[in-house]
Amino acid sequence: MTILATPLRSVATSSKTRPALSWQESLRRAIRDPVQLCRSLQLPPKYEQAATQASQLFGVFVPREYLGRMKVGDEKDPLLRQVLPIAEEAETGKGFSLDPVGDADALMAPGLLHKYRSRVLLIASGACAVHCRYCFRRHFPYEQMPHGLEDWQPAIEQIDEDTTIEEVILSGGDPLMLTDPRLAELVDCLEPIKHLNRLRIHTRLPVMIPSRVTDSLLSLLSDGRLRPVVVVHINHPAEIDLPVSMALSRLVEAGILVLNQSVLLRGVNDSAEVLSTLSKRLVDLRVMPYYLHQLDRTLGTSHFEVPVEIGISIIEQMRSRLPGYAVPRFAQEKRGKLSKQVLA
Ligand SMILES: *Cc1c(COP(=O)(O)O)cnc(C)c1O
Ligand code: SF4
Repeated sequence: MTILATPLRSVATSSKTRPALSWQESLRRAIRDPVQLCRSLQLPPKYEQAATQASQLFGVFVPREYLGRMKVGDEKDPLLRQVLPIAEEAETGKGFSLDPVGDADALMAPGLLHKYRSRVLLIASGACAVHCRYCFRRHFPYEQMPHGLEDWQPAIEQIDEDTTIEEVILSGGDPLMLTDPRLAELVDCLEPIKHLNRLRIHTRLPVMIPSRVTDSLLSLLSDGRLRPVVVVHINHPAEIDLPVSMALSRLVEAGILVLNQSVLLRGVNDSAEVLSTLSKRLVDLRVMPYYLHQLDRTLGTSHFEVPVEIGISIIEQMRSRLPGYAVPRFAQEKRGKLSKQVLA
């Protein structure tokens, strides 16, 4: 028995099963040209001009790992819709604005957002491994955010002074765009702060480029004093291929609590069928569905909006099909509230 068990385990974690490209190399090879995106998926030519036009406001960025999960020739592919610039982005949409959730009011120090009791959010990096067209941060003034470690000092001092803060959320952009040594420097500044217990990371990188889940990242998170929580962002079950499921398992096996958040998006995941499939896949990977977010009303994203009532009905249908723990909370962020608002 023991003779069998050992080799099986080592096969499963052998380096041969990991992607050969480094994650930085994958970032360098990502698609930034809208025409190239359209052509590599063999979309009808009419998409090229619209994509070029719409990408002037918010550029295209799609890792090849993600592109590889899309169906060639399918202009309705749910992964493609998340990243392809289209003419509808020019629509203004009533109630859609540049800062719909009041981030500017919550900025306490450069890069530090404090909206809710006991936790603060640090914009650890302005960059992302993908440009999601529906993103509420597409207009965020990232260039004004901290770049070097010295720039972080005011934020770290504020966290140090406020003993009600128990959890620091690294967000962005995507905090895992920082290299492991840079991330370690930031974590080293937070660990000595005694009232902190948890370190949460909001990231899409393990999904976009699964090789980002490096051994050094795992040890950085699991060997530290702060309890690690990683919140990934997956909207559709087709985003989870074998390398992604392996990256998620590596996080879970390192003792990290892994949660998922999705955004409810028209034409991507606005059905109980799709979201139930996603939840089941997540749970089977030991990733807990956390939030399903109602879209923030950011300028240029109105074509993604699903009415709140439909979101509530989707959640009700999911509740009738799935175990309770597999149903995410349907939540909305409202300016000036003490927490996210749970709608269902
Ligand atoms: C969403 C958010 C959080 C985290 O909220 P949870 O409900 O704990 O997930 C914290 N700070 C800010 C500014 C946020 O937008
Ligand atoms: S912040 Fe998140 S949702 Fe926005 S572009 Fe980056 S990865 Fe996508």
